Amino acid sequence: MHTEARRNRIPILLALIAAAATVTAVALAGCSGKLHAPGGTTMPVGGPSAAQRTEQPQQSQQPQQPEGDGSIQGDNGIAVDADHAAITGLKPELHAALLRAAEGAKEAGVELRVTSGWRSRELQQQLLDAAVQQYGSEAEASKWVDTPDRSLHVTGDAVDVGMLDASIWLGDNGQRFGLCRAFENERWHFELAPDGGTGQCPALLPDPSFRR
Ligand SMILES: [Zn+2]
Repeated sequence: MHTEARRNRIPILLALIAAAATVTAVALAGCSGKLHAPGGTTMPVGGPSAAQRTEQPQQSQQPQQPEGDGSIQGDNGIAVDADHAAITGLKPELHAALLRAAEGAKEAGVELRVTSGWRSRELQQQLLDAAVQQYGSEAEASKWVDTPDRSLHVTGDAVDVGMLDASIWLGDNGQRFGLCRAFENERWHFELAPDGGTGQCPALLPDPSFRR
């Protein structure tokens, strides 16, 4: 009995392999979406239509950059020509002046880096919230951090530079390159000089709250 039963299994196994091969062939044909029917015509096979496929959630080709809001990690800042939202979000005239100034600084033996540039409204609000916590009141915080509606960082019209030696150098030499320090309390904060960088830098204001 046992021997006979084993012999019977072989044709069944072959039939299963043949069936599996057929299924595989149909599945592969399905990849192109069509099967060739007798007579040279084609007929669609099952599977999502083009319209159905577009309804599926689209995977983003580029992963979301963590610095997409303009935030800069670490304490050393980034290069003036870095491929970073804080740099690429700056107004072209301001960035051009920054690049010229960085060249001038280099010749003087100073490395000019960017500690903050363009910021999203969300990042600006986060900084303001943190400043209110730190300084204890909105009035005190406003001397250091503007609202998203007022900040020139949000519009790409302001850049903060580091480190200490570089910000001091730029405070003394920025006018030559069309960059002006704006506030007495922010040694690091620079904006484009008036008239597209060609005008004279205005007098320093005590802090950002004096601009309102
Ligand atoms: Zn600033």
